[in-house]
Amino acid sequence: MTEAKGQGMYDLIIIGGGPAGLTAAIYALRARVKTLVIEKEIVGGQIALSDVIENYPGFPSISGQELMDKFEAHAKGFGMEIKFAAVENIGLDGNIKVVKTSEGELRAKAVIVATGAKPRMLGVPGEKEFLGKGVSYCATCDGPFFKGQTIAVVGGGDTAVKEAIYLAKLAKEVNLVHRRDQLRAEKILHEKTFETPNIRIHWSHILKEVKGDKTGVNGVVLEDLKTREKKTLEVQGVFMFVGINPTTDFVDVEKDKKGFIKTNQRMETSVPGILAAGDCRITPLPQVSTAVGDGAIAAFVAQSHIE
Ligand SMILES: Cc1cc2nc3c(=O)[nH]c(=O)nc-3n(C[C@H](O)[C@H](O)[C@H](O)COP(=O)(O)OP(=O)(O)OC[C@H]3O[C@@H](n4cnc5c(N)ncnc54)[C@H](O)[C@@H]3O)c2cc1C
Repeated sequence: MTEAKGQGMYDLIIIGGGPAGLTAAIYALRARVKTLVIEKEIVGGQIALSDVIENYPGFPSISGQELMDKFEAHAKGFGMEIKFAAVENIGLDGNIKVVKTSEGELRAKAVIVATGAKPRMLGVPGEKEFLGKGVSYCATCDGPFFKGQTIAVVGGGDTAVKEAIYLAKLAKEVNLVHRRDQLRAEKILHEKTFETPNIRIHWSHILKEVKGDKTGVNGVVLEDLKTREKKTLEVQGVFMFVGINPTTDFVDVEKDKKGFIKTNQRMETSVPGILAAGDCRITPLPQVSTAVGDGAIAAFVAQSHIE
């Protein structure tokens, strides 16, 4: 691989230090590509906030933080260089990508966007008002505040159900609010949910409003989608797991309506030399294992752009 010349000049810049970005770094560094990883928050990405993962091969049960510590140590073992900054824009100077960050400008022959996603907000009254005062998007971060209390969890996919099971170990009662009449989550998670005595499922219900006062959340209003009847539950906390929004505003490549980046099977975007991997791109299954696969392909394909 040809050495990139000049200060702030790399062969490859990887934006995002989650599972996709760290895997891309491992593959690029083993190919002796001069690589920089840029991360704006914490190394590890979204999964570092999850209490337990049971579907990453080789680790029947491990905490998100522990798994990501292993990814980070693995990449560092190959000499990963990491810069903590937020990427604000990717410009072009001929074939060179100019990466503008909160800490200055950097250049590379190729860029992998691995900036993942953030939990989606539901947009109901009271959600913003009580954010951090009972409304949360992270069970591991905030679950312990609700020890022995009654809470609601909104959603029916893998993340919602898995986090509800975790929260049921802390809370007195978990009210799982799901708009359909069956869960979308993995079957093994269904079984665990039904076996957990303090999870109460509100089938075919949606969250209409979060209620509270100066001290924080004290209730939620639910609507039955079949009868249109409303009911109020007394809860002290609400956890929302209703999907994700991609973190892709800063990059000007083709995206779908929701902002997920369009790529081909080689992880190439509409701009040559800019690749995307993980939850930030259109994927049917936003998970650690798929982000890892994407990151590996992106790093491999990036080499042909660099050459
Ligand atoms: C509560 C929860 C539980 C989950 N449980 C599981 C599970 O059990 N199993 C499973 O496989 N998956 C699970 N997931 C999904 C999994 O976390 C994601 O699929 C995975 O983290 C995606 O990896 P990624 O590298 O694409 O993105 P992310 O993990 O989102 O990482 C992206 C990184 O990019 C950084 N970044 C973003 N924008 C910028 C910028 N402008 N400049 C610099 N850095 C930036 C972010 O700070 C972040 O660190 C869970 C997710 C959540 C939220």
